[in-house]
Amino acid sequence: MKQIDIPVLIVGGGGCGLTTSLFLSRQGVRSLLVERHPAPGRLPKARYISQRSMELMRQNGVDGEVYSRSMPLENISHIRWCTSLAGDGDLDRRTFFRIESFGGGSLTHYARDSPCESTLYPQVRMEPLLRELADAQVEAEVLYNHQVLSFEQDEDGVTAIVENRADHEMTRVRARYLVGADGGKTVGPAVGATMSGQTGLAHMVTVYFRADLSAYWDDDYAMTTWFVNPEGGSWASGVLGQLGPRRFGRHSEEWMFHFSFRPDDPSRFEEASLLPRMRELLKIPELSPEIIAIGHWSVEGVLVDRYRFGRVLLAGDAAHRHPPTTGLGLNSAIQDAHNLAWKLAAVVKDQAHDSLLDSYEAERRPVAAANIQWALMTFQNHQLTDAGIGLVRGNAELSQANFRRFFANDAEGRTRRARLEQIMQVQRMEWQAHDIELGYHYELGAVVPDGTPTPERDPLGQTYVPTTRPGHRLPHAWVERDGKRLSTLDLVHPGRFTLLVGRPDTGWAQAASALVARDGLLLDVVEVSDTAAVRDTDRAWRNLREVSADGAILVRPDQHVAWRARGAQAQPEAVLQSVFARLLRRAPRTGATPPGTLARDRVALPA
Ligand SMILES: Cc1cc2nc3c(=O)[nH]c(=O)nc-3n(C[C@H](O)[C@H](O)[C@H](O)COP(=O)(O)OP(=O)(O)OC[C@H]3O[C@@H](n4cnc5c(N)ncnc54)[C@H](O)[C@@H]3O)c2cc1C
Repeated sequence: MKQIDIPVLIVGGGGCGLTTSLFLSRQGVRSLLVERHPAPGRLPKARYISQRSMELMRQNGVDGEVYSRSMPLENISHIRWCTSLAGDGDLDRRTFFRIESFGGGSLTHYARDSPCESTLYPQVRMEPLLRELADAQVEAEVLYNHQVLSFEQDEDGVTAIVENRADHEMTRVRARYLVGADGGKTVGPAVGATMSGQTGLAHMVTVYFRADLSAYWDDDYAMTTWFVNPEGGSWASGVLGQLGPRRFGRHSEEWMFHFSFRPDDPSRFEEASLLPRMRELLKIPELSPEIIAIGHWSVEGVLVDRYRFGRVLLAGDAAHRHPPTTGLGLNSAIQDAHNLAWKLAAVVKDQAHDSLLDSYEAERRPVAAANIQWALMTFQNHQLTDAGIGLVRGNAELSQANFRRFFANDAEGRTRRARLEQIMQVQRMEWQAHDIELGYHYELGAVVPDGTPTPERDPLGQTYVPTTRPGHRLPHAWVERDGKRLSTLDLVHPGRFTLLVGRPDTGWAQAASALVARDGLLLDVVEVSDTAAVRDTDRAWRNLREVSADGAILVRPDQHVAWRARGAQAQPEAVLQSVFARLLRRAPRTGATPPGTLARDRVALPA
């Protein structure tokens, strides 16, 4: 049997596995990724790529590749609710409401807080691009049409049997760590992980199709249109979204339409029943789309009990699955990959003790729990918006009458429209969740707290307050180097810590250099000031840094603040040394047993 020895084995080639591979390569760590399908998935699934995900792409030098192919922000700058796409009845093609989304339109605070715009790039195209980018790295091997059949682990690593599904050739893979990025289908169950939460909340079908809808879709800037017809609410009436790929807005070539079925409806898996249902919901009897793919999925919000099982780490949908509302699934899967990659790199390069990997669960599991709650709540909010529109479930006649009153040019119509506007202020939680996207932070884990209390967050998830408090994402400010504008986030390179200082003579820079020379730390020191090479040209950084010019901010490779000193301190070298000892858990460097449960028995994966 062929044998491969590799530091990291990644199971699953979805967005999470592929970005794990890419991020590890960018830090010089070799990995092998196995994906059981012969090619990336055929369903659009995730479309919305948040600013934070784009920041991670930017840090790894691939943001330009995504932006050059993805949909510009202006084309996803609002979401709308309509009665139907077509039809000529008095209630057809009417718009109930538009809400601004994702940093488009007047939501200019998004541009203030990040160097990146959010964008729309469906998973059906993102995965092939990520595959290409991951595969192009010399450190990575990416094998499609291969699956992990079984694995076992011991104190030093994992041994997996990988099957080439084309010729059934088996390879024994020996890895120090295994990342289960398989959507939760195989690795988690094999190590005894349990997922808990809410399941079966709605049973959905997605039809991915090609059609010219320019005669009906009259809005170039709506990312998504929710339909609410008198017979059913927004999930039952359907959601239509543009997908590009070459033209956007009404001339989009491809579309996706999600709608729900009752779980006991025997026709929900019958392809023949889907097109008539689509025609009926969209009110286009002559619709003859070229159907590219059909997918069935159910809405759930579930979280795994543990992220780490000895040498096995779970990430992405293998650890948490959310309703698609707020678009947190793929985005948080990419953030898991980013959090895990620098820690794996530090351990594999012997910069950190294995127990640093425990901080992965301590940091990412609370974020996932919060994201699941958020996505469940924004999913449930659709009942509010439907009610605000005037839908009375199970009473089509009354709903229809309410819709007429809603559009009436009289006092009641104005009141109903004003009421919906108020209700939609709540549903900004889904489309303007700026703080959910940028403000997530780590209270426990690889951070050295400075004793400041956890700041209160906006309960509606909109207002992000930048802070350099340990555990938070480094705030973005534009600075200048060699006449070129760059973000403070650009000062942090993959796999390297960064010490930001405000003056050259406070001892922090010298202390850091001494530690680098002595301990081989992967640490850069950057002075940002009015006179340094990195210039705080408009003093934006000074207003955000929350420490004096004599202080220092240590940023982790994933752009989260690890520690900060508000001002100068005696013995800066000793201070920094103890900070790194805590962060990288370097003290017990020899003889310690890695934590976590080691399942010694061979486990066979479900097919
Ligand atoms: C309709 C819909 C809309 C969505 N919209 C959004 C959105 O706008 N934004 C957002 O962020 N998220 C969205 N999501 C969620 C998003 O699609 C998922 O969170 C994301 O796909 C998770 O990526 P992953 O890599 O963790 O898992 P997956 O995409 O499930 O990938 C896992 C991979 O592992 C492979 N695999 C499994 N077992 C093995 C094995 N033994 N050996 C080898 N390979 C194996 C599988 O074949 C699969 O390719 C949406 C989801 C749906 C259904």
